[in-house]
Amino acid sequence: MAEKIESSREGGIDAPTRHALDWTNPDFYNQDKIDDELYRTFEICHGCRRCVSLCDAYPTLFDLIDESPSYDIDTVEKSDYNKVVDECYMCDLCYQTKCPYVPPHPWALDFPHLMLRAKAKKFKDKKDGLQKRIRNKLLSSTDFTMKYGSIPLVDVTINTLNGSQIVRKPLEGLLGIHAKADLPKFKSNNLKKRVEKLTNSVDKVQANESTTGKVMVFGTCYCNYSVPEVGEDLFTVFRHNNIQTELMQQEKCCGMPKFELGDLESVKKAKEYNAPRFLEAINDGYDIVAAVPSCVLMFKQELPLMFPGDEELQKIKSRIFDPFEYLSLRDKDGLLKKDFKIEFDKISYQAACHQRVQNIGPKTKEILSLIPGAEIDMIERCSGHDGTYAVKKESHEKSIKIRKPVVSKVERFDPKTFTSDCPMAAKHVGNGVTTETETVLHPMSILKDAYGL
Ligand code: SF4
Ligand code: SF4
Ligand code: SF4
Repeated sequence: MAEKIESSREGGIDAPTRHALDWTNPDFYNQDKIDDELYRTFEICHGCRRCVSLCDAYPTLFDLIDESPSYDIDTVEKSDYNKVVDECYMCDLCYQTKCPYVPPHPWALDFPHLMLRAKAKKFKDKKDGLQKRIRNKLLSSTDFTMKYGSIPLVDVTINTLNGSQIVRKPLEGLLGIHAKADLPKFKSNNLKKRVEKLTNSVDKVQANESTTGKVMVFGTCYCNYSVPEVGEDLFTVFRHNNIQTELMQQEKCCGMPKFELGDLESVKKAKEYNAPRFLEAINDGYDIVAAVPSCVLMFKQELPLMFPGDEELQKIKSRIFDPFEYLSLRDKDGLLKKDFKIEFDKISYQAACHQRVQNIGPKTKEILSLIPGAEIDMIERCSGHDGTYAVKKESHEKSIKIRKPVVSKVERFDPKTFTSDCPMAAKHVGNGVTTETETVLHPMSILKDAYGL
C-alpha cells in the first residue's frame, strides 16, 4: 500500500508545477499500483473535501466513504473506485484552481492525471461493456463523424433524425446516447467553404513582441463542421485587426475526446499527424489559434506533458494561442481596433474550464468589456457539458445538475446575450435558461457584431 507522506504544511505555498505523464512506463498500467495511488489520493481528499462542488467525481467518492462500514477509505471496495473515475471528465479545475497538495508539495497530488491513468487502464483492458465501447468510439471519433456527417444531404438527414424522439428513443437503448441530449448539428457549408468566400483583406501585417501578426487557424473538427460560423467570425475579426489569417489545410482532431477516454495511443497518432503541420506553419512565421479552448489546451498542456522530451511540441506550445489571448497580446501595443459600431447590453459570460486552466487570465472578459455598453457578468463554473459527458445516457442528468449554478446565475442577471468560449458549453447552458435571454453567441461573434462587420 502506498504511504501518505507526512507533511508539516497544510498546503503548498510554492507555484504549482506538474509532473509529466509517465504513460509509457509499464507501471502506468499496473492495476495494483493504480489502486495504491487511488487509495492514497482518496484518503487525502477525504480529509480535505474542498472539491465537493466541482463535479460528480468527488460527491461519488465521499458518498462511498460515508456509506462504508468504517466511514473511511479502508473499507471502500476497490471495485468501486471506477465509479469515481467514470465521473471525471478531465476539466482540470481541481488541479488548477483548488488543490493545495499539487507538486511541489510533497504529497504531489494530481487527481485528474490519476483519473486519466485509471481510465487508460480501463480502456486498455476493455473493461466497459461492448455497447459502451462502441458508443465511446463513435463519440470520440470526431474526425470521422464530423467529416462524413457534414456531406451535403447527409447533414440534413442526420440533423432531422437527431431531432426526432421517434429515432432518439431507440438510439438511447441501442447506443447509450441520451434521447434528450442536444447533439451537434452537422453543416455541409463548412469552414473551408466559408473562408474561400471571404473577401476581407489585411492592410499591413504588423508583428509585436509576442505575436507575429500572421495566424494559421487550427479549424478543429467542431468549428470546421458543426459551428463554422464561429470560425468564420474569427477570420472576420482577425482580418479586421490586420492579422493575416489562413486556415490549416490538413489537420486532425486535437485528440482531446480520445484523451478523456484514456485512449492514449490514438492521442499519439493524432499528435503525429498534427505536430509536423503545425510546425511547418510556425516555421513559416505563423502563430496557431483555435476557437475551441479544449483544442488549445491539448497543445499547451496535455501533449507536452505526455511527450516531455518532444522539442517540436515545446515549440508549438509556445506559439499556440487562445483567440482572445492573442487579441489581448496585440492590444498591449495598440494593435486592436476599437472602432465599434454597435452597442451591447448585459452579457452573461461563462469562462470555459479548459480556457481557465490555461492560466492566461480573463482575456475574453477583458476584450468584450471594450464594447460600448457591455456589462459582463463572468461565471467561473463548469457547464457540465465536457463534449461527451452531457450526451451519455448514464451522465446526462448529472450534467444538467452540474450546469444548474451557471443557469441560475444567468437567469438572475437576466442578460440579452449569453456567451461562453466553449461552443458546446454555450449550447448546453443556453438550453437550460428559461428567462428571456435573446441570443446565445460565441464571444468572437459578439465582437464581430460589435464591429458592425
Ligand atoms: S478534473 Fe474536473 S471532472 Fe475531473 S475530478 Fe477534477 S474537477 Fe472533477
Ligand atoms: S483534489 Fe486536492 S483540493 Fe480537491 S479534495 Fe482532493 S486534496 Fe482536496
Ligand atoms: S466548459 Fe467546455 S471546456 Fe470546460 S469542461 Fe465543459 S465542455 Fe469542456
